[in-house]
Amino acid sequence: MSHCKICTSPTNDIITFGGMPVANGFINVVGQDEFVFDLTVSFCTHCFMVQLKETVPPEKMFNDHYHFMSSTSQGMAVHFEGNAKEIIDRLAGRPDSFVVELGCNDGPMLKHIAAKGIRHLGVEPSGNVADLAQKNNVRVLKEFFNQKTAAQIVQKDGQADVICGSNVFCHIEDIHSVFTGISVLLKEDGYVYFEDPYLMDIVEQSSFDQIYDEHVFYYSGLSVRELAKRHQLELVDMVHQDVHGGSMRYYLKKGAGYTVHPRVEEFIAREKSLKLDQPAGYASFKDHVNQICHQLRHTLEEIKHKGSRIVGYGATSKSTTLLNYAKIGPALVDYISDNTPYKINKFTPGMHIPIRSYETFLEDQPAYTLLLAWNHRREILEKEKEYRRKGGKFITFFPAVTIE
Ligand SMILES: [Zn+2]
Repeated sequence: MSHCKICTSPTNDIITFGGMPVANGFINVVGQDEFVFDLTVSFCTHCFMVQLKETVPPEKMFNDHYHFMSSTSQGMAVHFEGNAKEIIDRLAGRPDSFVVELGCNDGPMLKHIAAKGIRHLGVEPSGNVADLAQKNNVRVLKEFFNQKTAAQIVQKDGQADVICGSNVFCHIEDIHSVFTGISVLLKEDGYVYFEDPYLMDIVEQSSFDQIYDEHVFYYSGLSVRELAKRHQLELVDMVHQDVHGGSMRYYLKKGAGYTVHPRVEEFIAREKSLKLDQPAGYASFKDHVNQICHQLRHTLEEIKHKGSRIVGYGATSKSTTLLNYAKIGPALVDYISDNTPYKINKFTPGMHIPIRSYETFLEDQPAYTLLLAWNHRREILEKEKEYRRKGGKFITFFPAVTIE
């Protein structure tokens, strides 16, 4: 029996992936020790939060080389610039406004706020990433965000008009500490927004590779509304984002009694129609996940059987869950190409597929490519027009296995 990290009620298991290495645990040598934990997702019928049952101690997750730089994708760069523009528009006419971003990464959003001369602060605990943000002229506090850091910020800079976070809230197990900090830092008439992979997209597309050690919470309108209430905040709007395979941006305000955008009720009604407020809604998810794994393995085996070669594209953290659960290793996929320097010549966690440079892929022209970075599908198909023109094919797998 495990208990909800939000409300302490007993939770129900939705799906168990079994022993799983950490998603970012790329290894130097096959045979080296790998930390394995039980990857199980559970659901709370009381506050509707979908969450990891067992979490991994942070020291097992992040190593010296860990630095996710969000600016590397052109699509994401455009997305963050759009986020900044929205903030700038909303703050128009408010004198001396102050924007705080939690987990600002290397500053892909805040650099646009900084460029407008708007007072801002990024709170970023990863030192090397924070240094990169500073190079982008972003003001950074190298700390974890909680009540104490919030009080420090208020003392120095005053309260914030906007507090935001992108792909940050889903990573933080002690999310209550973040919301307690928000209560301290947010102005009475300020607003909060955060965006994370959307539970309904994960369920509808069966995109279970979003589930890995670093993603503790899988938010929905149902669960965010409850979580906000606990911290005297109100969920006032939800805007769907076409990034990371489907994300949701949630807008919160202090207190209650606001005019809530009709979208909130519409999204929650759709979530309820999928029964995401009860265990029954997750039973078919588990079946679909197993179907996709079976279908994908079968497709890859058939291709190999016919004598063609398959490589992977994008040694993403999230592909760790897919590769390990579907048992896809070097017997099926020769290597995975990636352009992150520190991953090249390492091996994927658990399944030990070698990682090669992007140039290797370009020179190689393999017959089939498993598109592990499927959430950038459109951008990648466009970039690899030449590969496809020469007859190369991409294999994708959500919501079903497709060769194109
Ligand atoms: Zn709960």
